[in-house]
Amino acid sequence: MIIVLRPEATKDVADEIMARIEELGCKPLYMPGAERTVLGALGDERILGQLRLDSHPMVEKVTEILAPYKLVSREFHPHDTVVSIGDVPVGGDKFTVIAGPCSIESFDQLRDTALAVKASGASCLRGGAYKPRTSPYAFQGLGLEGLEIMQKVTAETGLPGITEIVEVSDIERVYDHASAFQVGARNMQNFRLLLELGKSDKPVILKRGMAASVKDLLMAAEYIVSEGNSKVILCERGIRTFETATRNTLDLNAIPVIKKRSHLPVIVDPSHGTGVREFVNPMAFAAAACGADGIIVEVHRNPAEALSDGAQSLFPDQFADLMRKLKPFVEAAGKEL
Ligand code: PEP
Ligand code: MN
Repeated sequence: MIIVLRPEATKDVADEIMARIEELGCKPLYMPGAERTVLGALGDERILGQLRLDSHPMVEKVTEILAPYKLVSREFHPHDTVVSIGDVPVGGDKFTVIAGPCSIESFDQLRDTALAVKASGASCLRGGAYKPRTSPYAFQGLGLEGLEIMQKVTAETGLPGITEIVEVSDIERVYDHASAFQVGARNMQNFRLLLELGKSDKPVILKRGMAASVKDLLMAAEYIVSEGNSKVILCERGIRTFETATRNTLDLNAIPVIKKRSHLPVIVDPSHGTGVREFVNPMAFAAAACGADGIIVEVHRNPAEALSDGAQSLFPDQFADLMRKLKPFVEAAGKEL
């Protein structure tokens, strides 16, 4: 429930209402603004109805949030949220390109790839140090050594770094070495992890689970935001369907659907969405055209040697081509690169 107070309402009025919300076992939120104070009340709307706040003399308007996700809903926050990764904004009028290898494999591999994507116009660097792989025999990532490489390369190139977090005990370590956490598709509903990331002040890129609905994704985001971290970027990365021609089915419907339901920025991962290098660029253009706030793309200095996801990783010159051709699609959607 959103409670807009009248301009003359004092802090005491806000405190009194918040105390009554708390007495009902619900969670009050205090959001002072330039002209008016807005209060939020999280909990069962039927119970909150008992407060009869619509007839309170200092309350201007009460709006129920009908969606099961509250803080991430458009009803709660009508304007687009912009989340910054380092000094790079994601959301609003901007279209942000994040690029880099699937996994961090060596200092030279990450550095060469980072320099190449930067030269083509990428503004953030991706690369996994902890890799949740389908097979226990596949490359699992360099762990701490990978994080240290990420830190060195981002310091040298000035590109903010994004890397995957797979367990709660790694949060501090990842925090110290990167500008944003990536929660992978396999961990989208790792609720303990989401709650802990909610206590952080660094952005979280939350990837949609491969069998998760848009509602599931928004509920997962709500876990993070409900703990206080509102810097969440949603990511559509393809879902499992009956279709076997591509690794996943990139659900671009999700972009306008999420835009309607949530104020959070949403980016697209055409690499995992297709699993096939030659389909990455067309789907990246489509992502821009349908209103996504950015893309996250796998690029490797030499995909033939990649220890993970080589088949979907772009060669640096293909990424350069993507960046050259992206602009009209971004502009058609009313954004800028
Ligand atoms: C990745 O980004 O390399 C990755 C593992 O992605 P996802 O979690 O979407 O499968
Ligand atoms: Mn990958």
